[in-house]
Amino acid sequence: MSRRRKRRPATPEVEARVQQMREVVRAGALDRPGVYRMISPDGEIVYVGKAKKLRTRLMSYFRAEYPAEKGARIVREAGEIAWDYQPSEFAALLEELRLIKRWRPRLNVMMKRDARHYAFIRITRGPAPKFQVVRGAGNDDHGTYFGPFHGAHQLEDALRELNDALGLRDCRADQRMHFADQVEFPVAPPRTPGCIRHEIGRCLGPCVAATTVAEYRSRFDVARQFLDGADDAPVALLRSAMEASSDALDFERAASLRDKILRLESLQDQFARLRFAVESLSFVYRVAGWGDDDRAYIIRRGRVRAELPAPKDAAGERALAARAAEIFAPREKAALTVPAHEIDELLLLSSWFRKFPDELARAEGPSAFALDKSA
Ligand code: SF4
Repeated sequence: MSRRRKRRPATPEVEARVQQMREVVRAGALDRPGVYRMISPDGEIVYVGKAKKLRTRLMSYFRAEYPAEKGARIVREAGEIAWDYQPSEFAALLEELRLIKRWRPRLNVMMKRDARHYAFIRITRGPAPKFQVVRGAGNDDHGTYFGPFHGAHQLEDALRELNDALGLRDCRADQRMHFADQVEFPVAPPRTPGCIRHEIGRCLGPCVAATTVAEYRSRFDVARQFLDGADDAPVALLRSAMEASSDALDFERAASLRDKILRLESLQDQFARLRFAVESLSFVYRVAGWGDDDRAYIIRRGRVRAELPAPKDAAGERALAARAAEIFAPREKAALTVPAHEIDELLLLSSWFRKFPDELARAEGPSAFALDKSA
């Protein structure tokens, strides 16, 4: 038996508004790619969407039968629908993302299928930074994030091993720190830490003046280099401890150390895969547009760095090559730190090219433009 509730009659005022919007769409919207905004009677943009066929999508809102359906909920909140055509579905997707970031419409926020189901590693600020697993990139646009990853729990387990191996803290972000080289302590350093990790040798103890700022920082930098694939020290430390345990016939400890190594290696593996995904999203992507409005997108490390009209002649090709060379030439740190405000775009591009691998296959890599530059 259907569990759907029966359609609840809308008030005559709402019904009239919906009918009026329907007529506007029917009279004016074309089946072209575009973005649309649902605007409430008091002028608030309540929802932003995109469509490959704008008219078809907008008309579908008026066919929603049940109040709980997404389309019905959106259209009943609106008093006006406005739209802009875009040259392609890809362009519409990018524009939708930009508009959502700009306006943060409340129905998009409620219904959004965004980065929240991914996990990220966030680096906190301050003299004793720490790694923190977070779901979604949050609104901290100045934060530094590694990711996205699947599996927050495995990520937490692996980070625990990394923190233990290097003596990094994992306590609350606002835990008060007392470094040994702080000249004056506004508050006397406590004699015992807020947890036992320092007592059992798993934390350097920045909360009890047991380490200096420089020592903590250098351990933290090793951890970051490990995540970047540039330093294997945490695994090497555990491996030599495992070998020592094995030589001492302490096989239980050796087995536990082996499991820790496996967790760390799987973390490094996740980073290597992410690095590959980010690095492989560097190319020029030409997209045929409606009415000959073709575009060329210069994408580097999973973010659109420039959008140009696609060249129609040799001079246009030279201009595109020059711009591409300018964007691809500077060395960029290979670290997987993605500014929070760019994560949505990275996710959008990787999902687009996963969905349409043929599009990825025809994109032109940076080397093509390095050659063109000298031509
Ligand atoms: S020993 Fe201190 S700094 Fe280290 S994790 Fe525990 S409370 Fe945090």
